[in-house]
Amino acid sequence: MSSNILVLNSGSSSLKFAIIEPAEETTLVSGLVDRIGQDSATIKIKFADKDSVTTPYPKADHHQALLKVLDQINADGGDLTLAGIGHRVVHGGEFFRQSVTITPTVLAQIKACNHLAPLHNPANVVGIDAISEELPDLPQVAVFDTAFHQSIPAHAFTYALPNELYKKHSLRRYGFHGTSHRYVTMEAAKRLDKPVAQVNLVTAHLGNGCSATAVHLGKSVDTSMGLTPLEGLVMGTRCGDVDPGLLLHLIDSQGYSPDELNKMLNKESGLLGISGLSNDMRTLLHAETEGDRQAALAISVFCYRLAKTIAGLAVSAHPLDALVFTGGIGENASLIRQRVCQQLALLGISIDPSVNKLHGKDHSGVISDSQSKLPVLVIPTNEELLIAKDTLALVSSVAQ
Ligand code: ADP
Repeated sequence: MSSNILVLNSGSSSLKFAIIEPAEETTLVSGLVDRIGQDSATIKIKFADKDSVTTPYPKADHHQALLKVLDQINADGGDLTLAGIGHRVVHGGEFFRQSVTITPTVLAQIKACNHLAPLHNPANVVGIDAISEELPDLPQVAVFDTAFHQSIPAHAFTYALPNELYKKHSLRRYGFHGTSHRYVTMEAAKRLDKPVAQVNLVTAHLGNGCSATAVHLGKSVDTSMGLTPLEGLVMGTRCGDVDPGLLLHLIDSQGYSPDELNKMLNKESGLLGISGLSNDMRTLLHAETEGDRQAALAISVFCYRLAKTIAGLAVSAHPLDALVFTGGIGENASLIRQRVCQQLALLGISIDPSVNKLHGKDHSGVISDSQSKLPVLVIPTNEELLIAKDTLALVSSVAQ
């Protein structure tokens, strides 16, 4: 029997996919349908050991895009014998503490979380529905971005707002990037030679979206993102924490509408907003070397806020075993790691600059020096692999 898993991440205008053999940890096929619904939509497919191939696929909807992907994999000789499908689902609310096999009840609960993630959950549901129609005999599993954070205690997830807002409308901190934080927690435990259930960490996932998590005894006990992925750290285009009074001011004095605020806070802020140049850390680091002062300021704000958040989360992860960097910036931007760690002297952290420079996707491991009170680790994340592993585990337990 095949143990290959199709992993799907169905976004509002994109469909990321991969076929993974979880036990061997090999990715057989991966790809992306981008700009779904638009004239410029494309399908990019990469088979292991081959170059990726990109073809136009204008105006398709999600369902058609999925069919095309399956056809294309088939036509190119890919193995479509699958044990199951694992879906990344953004919001599981308080329903899900772990990954689950999708049943009609589960699907209804996912839909009940739509109001908490209106951009993401409906798109995830479209992916689940399309598979139910096209591959009805295969089991489907939902792996939630929020599930790892369901262990966060009430004192860390409660906003200091009237309690009715939580009771009636479920407004609380949920946290995101849970699959990534869980994956690097498991990997860090291996590298520290400790059981996961004994490991205390702060994990920093720094991609276009950024979040940091306190892990105590292997469980998430606090995280920087909140009800939505807007809270916390400075991100590519999202503002992270701001004074809520500032929003009231924009509404009252500047006449901002909800849509305008939404666009400004999510799409025009963060690194892009401060620099006025780009949301991309590579571009900003380069611009800084050319004397761009706003790019330099954006990087400084990013690093300072990250250091401050990590120090705060260390309270919940005490006694800390390690600090972990992951995500595109965390894995590749050695200068950012260096600047953040320099500001974390209170944790007794010091890194080895030459080893730090070596690290990237292909050089993971310890970047702290022998003086450091705490190991600092760089661990490439692999959310797809964890989704495939969870899916296979659930599918196998049902099959037995
Ligand atoms: P996503 O959240 O979309 O998955 P990624 O995890 O790929 O994003 O991270 C994207 C970020 O990583 C971008 O800001 C990009 O500039 C940054 N990044 C990638 N490679 C490097 C590098 N070599 N140096 C600095 N930043 C990098």
